[in-house]
Amino acid sequence: MYHLNLSKLTGLSSIKLDALAKEGIHHAQDLLFFFPRRYLDRSNVKKIEQLRGLGEEVTIAGTITHIGEQGFKAKKRLEIVVKDETGGIKAVWFKGAYYMKKRFNVGQKIALFGTVKQFGRHLSMAHPETDDINKESNLADFSTIVAIYPSGQHFHKARVYNSNIQQWIAQLLNHPSLRHLFPEFLPEYILTSYGYPNRTEAIRAIHNPSSHDSHKQALKRFKFEEFFLFQLSMERIHSERLAAKAGPSLTKNTPNTRHYFEHLLPFKLTPGQKKALIDIQDDVRSGRQMNRLIQGDVGAGKTAVAMGALLMAVDNGFQGALVAPTEILAEQHYATLKEAFSQLDISIRLLVGGQKAGLRRDVLTDIEGGGCNIVIGTHAVIQKEVRFHNLGMVVIDEQHRFGVQQRAALLHKANNPHMLVMSATPIPRSLAMSLYADLDISLIKGLPEGRKTIRTAIRSEKKRTDVYHFVEQEIKDGGQIYIIYPLIEESEALDLKDATAGYEKICERFPSARVALLHGRIPSEEKDAIMQSFAKGEIDILVSTTVIEVGVNVPNASVMIIEHAERFGLSQLHQLRGRIGRGTRQSYCILMPNHAVSKSGAVRLKTMERTTDGFEIAEVDLKLRGPGDFLGTKQSGLPDFRFGDIIQDQDLLELAKKQARELIEQDFLLSKQEHLELKHFFESYHREKKLFYGLA
Ligand code: ADP
Ligand code: MG
Repeated sequence: MYHLNLSKLTGLSSIKLDALAKEGIHHAQDLLFFFPRRYLDRSNVKKIEQLRGLGEEVTIAGTITHIGEQGFKAKKRLEIVVKDETGGIKAVWFKGAYYMKKRFNVGQKIALFGTVKQFGRHLSMAHPETDDINKESNLADFSTIVAIYPSGQHFHKARVYNSNIQQWIAQLLNHPSLRHLFPEFLPEYILTSYGYPNRTEAIRAIHNPSSHDSHKQALKRFKFEEFFLFQLSMERIHSERLAAKAGPSLTKNTPNTRHYFEHLLPFKLTPGQKKALIDIQDDVRSGRQMNRLIQGDVGAGKTAVAMGALLMAVDNGFQGALVAPTEILAEQHYATLKEAFSQLDISIRLLVGGQKAGLRRDVLTDIEGGGCNIVIGTHAVIQKEVRFHNLGMVVIDEQHRFGVQQRAALLHKANNPHMLVMSATPIPRSLAMSLYADLDISLIKGLPEGRKTIRTAIRSEKKRTDVYHFVEQEIKDGGQIYIIYPLIEESEALDLKDATAGYEKICERFPSARVALLHGRIPSEEKDAIMQSFAKGEIDILVSTTVIEVGVNVPNASVMIIEHAERFGLSQLHQLRGRIGRGTRQSYCILMPNHAVSKSGAVRLKTMERTTDGFEIAEVDLKLRGPGDFLGTKQSGLPDFRFGDIIQDQDLLELAKKQARELIEQDFLLSKQEHLELKHFFESYHREKKLFYGLA
């Protein structure tokens, strides 16, 4: 790429050059991409008499009638009085008075633009931008929109002022080789169809907008180009995947799959479940490797879909694996599948961390020998020692709890097995489309019939007595209760104390109830025993940390009390609440904030109270936390966008995707030159962002 050394610009001393470098501005391109923080509209010129004061941002033009300094040394400030034919206004500088003073003379005509303030009857502006309008040349651009640049941390000391930056950028914009310095790479037809300015026009409109509209359109163009490069790389991954991998062809649906869904399944599938199963069936019969995400809110019935996928593998002589993020969930799946498939001739084994050596060895042998048809487990399944006989289907439950690398490791346990990942984290559509370009998505909308909407309420400490009364009543009516305490990794011991103390209080308060305590430190076997008795209805109140956050399914549980509710994130609250309302009972979620609640904490609680819609909750969560935190890990693979905002600019993100896909599908849309330019940009973008999305 063509480079221009910044030191070639006039007015850029080595001190200033250094200050720019410290702000990450090294090349001409960096400087051009140093976008204004805001704009002053100088065309909004007013007479002084028209000024109403109070925060109005205006330009006035007049003559300097007085220049004065007040205060001493560092506290020195400069005041000038400017008058037009209708009145006068004071301009004040608290910083740099000495340098500013040199710029002004009494009798000089100047323009001031800034924010008007009123002190008593006097109008004033602090640190206004000024323009000398004595000079002919300045009159011309006096009525334009002026860029105000961010003031870098190192700028002040090196005396890099807004006017300096304006001048340097003006030099670049007038440079004869601007077109090479800042080459176009978007294809002509895209510019035409959206009315985007070309790249040099656009950069001019950013720094020197002639109107608000031209600036808006230029900014849009830069957002688009950024999204477009990103979407191109996503599309490339997508098309490579489609082109490449053959997967096991699973065409048979007997003796198990059909039999199970026609005769054994205890309920009627929802339309969403049916559609997901059909999608899966199409995938596994296609001869290509399946790579599908099942997205369905908590309680939507994803397990039944997973069971179908596993049966398809078994019917065709392959093994299946179902992997869950927690032991409790793995145990639950194991129990569910054992029971559900009890009349089928299928061998199911459990593989989790804490198993005795003998048992573990036995399970491993069974998996490797092929005697075991379905393995259910935790991360333990991913470990090296686990070798499959012929793995054909991998199902990952609560996939957001797993990293990209872990999924990749699972796929390497066989020759391109099919993969189904399931998630209840409802990722807003635009984000899902971008994040999961390498996955096909089946959405399970809606919950099974007969579910009643969970009622959610926020209750303060004062209401604790009422809450406990309610709990009593609910137990009498045959319901079961969860009481959750937060668990934050850094202070696990402390939180444990919370849950333990809470447990003791509950035992005291409900002497005739059957109460149990569950947390991460309890040995696996015991944990499992507690969960099983809770599932069987032998426990009335389960006091627990967040170990039951995901996946746990006890349909009779009808009350979820969350202590310190203000300390939980939104998606966590949604997951926790998802533990109830899984059967036909009316369920209640009670959020009990115990401390001063922050502003965002209040938004979280209110959101929970307002809606049970996972997508709506996710949107709010995303806004509160931003995409990085929302997705939890860096592994999410989404780059930092410089101009675009994946939430606010969703439409552009989608537009960019559409264009990227079209371009990849129809190569001929580009001229040879366009192709080269785009390719060049694309490759440097790809390198810079170190994109890694490939699951395999
Ligand atoms: P999730 O999508 O949260 O993993 P599960 O698969 O655990 O949900 O299902 C939640 C509960 O709903 C389970 O008790 C399950 O048996 C039940 N269920 C699933 N599908 C249906 C259906 N179509 N009709 C009635 N109940 C269903
Ligand atoms: Mg589940």
